[in-house]
Amino acid sequence: MNLWQEYKRPTSVAEAVQALAAASGPALPIAGGTDLLLDLKQGRHTPIHTLVDLTFIPEMSALELRGDDLFIGAVVPVNRIALDPLTGAHAQALVEACNLIAGPQVRNTATLGGNVAHALPAADGTIALTALNAEAEIASATGTRRIPFISLFTGPGKSSIEKNKEIIVGFYLPISNFQSLKTASCFKRIMRPQGVALPILNCAVWLAREENAIKDIRIAVGPGSSTPFRATEAENVLRGQAMSETVFAASLNSLLAQAKFRTSARRASADYRRHIVGGLFKDVLDTAWKRAE
Ligand SMILES: Cc1cc2nc3c(=O)[nH]c(=O)nc-3n(C[C@H](O)[C@H](O)[C@H](O)COP(=O)(O)OP(=O)(O)OC[C@H]3O[C@@H](n4cnc5c(N)ncnc54)[C@H](O)[C@@H]3O)c2cc1C
Repeated sequence: MNLWQEYKRPTSVAEAVQALAAASGPALPIAGGTDLLLDLKQGRHTPIHTLVDLTFIPEMSALELRGDDLFIGAVVPVNRIALDPLTGAHAQALVEACNLIAGPQVRNTATLGGNVAHALPAADGTIALTALNAEAEIASATGTRRIPFISLFTGPGKSSIEKNKEIIVGFYLPISNFQSLKTASCFKRIMRPQGVALPILNCAVWLAREENAIKDIRIAVGPGSSTPFRATEAENVLRGQAMSETVFAASLNSLLAQAKFRTSARRASADYRRHIVGGLFKDVLDTAWKRAE
């Protein structure tokens, strides 16, 4: 049995949105296919009539500076993000996340847009983009709009975009708000040995440092809730403070009070995640802090 009836290869964002709208049955975008094709083959997905391949759209393959932002097109493979000098200079947490996704073969194909659109609360690229305060550009038949990254998610595996009508074009990462300060970011994760899928826990921190104080900070932890989690209470504790054991302990308490860790059948219990998050958070925070020296 065919997994789909029609396969479209648009070469512009407008054509892609039009192809979704014009499909004569259920339609979905496809990028690397590393999630979607497995789901279709293994019967975990409702039948699809039309797949709209986004990988032939040049605008969605761009990775470039645009004014005060770094733009990363949604179909840029995570391997390219891990190697590109621009991401190395401006989005270290994302480089580290992309370097850890799956193995080399999947990384050559899997895209950042697919990682985000799948809407899993601990997807590695997604957690890095959460800490980097990205915005997403969404295209629909009525045009394009930019939305805060976090508003893309409504629940585990559920995004706010209508995938049969809308596509994620790419992501804008702010890079120049704090040019007079030292900024840095870091991403790490805790994984089962030999693991190549989602982690037990991951964490990304972005911070701006002014001498010995944290001027501003963003912290993301996956899976810290049913959607990608920003530890805003811990951020409030750390903002404006000098780094010390006491301040860290207070921020960890705030993170634990705000997070709603999830139990995943194959990876870890919520209790275990609560138990180990402090070590991971400290490691990521310390690394970002030292990088901003
Ligand atoms: C062996 C293996 C290991 C993995 N390891 C990891 C890991 O360590 N960490 C991790 O985070 N993930 C991991 N994954 C998950 C997966 O590879 C990534 O999430 C990948 O980035 C998905 O991208 P894709 O381009 O292949 O998405 P696809 O499979 O093409 O699409 C996934 C979903 O997103 C939609 N979609 C894709 N692009 C867009 C777009 N631009 N706009 C709107 N909707 C879109 C599709 O319709 C589909 O519903 C792993 C997967 C495999 C198979």
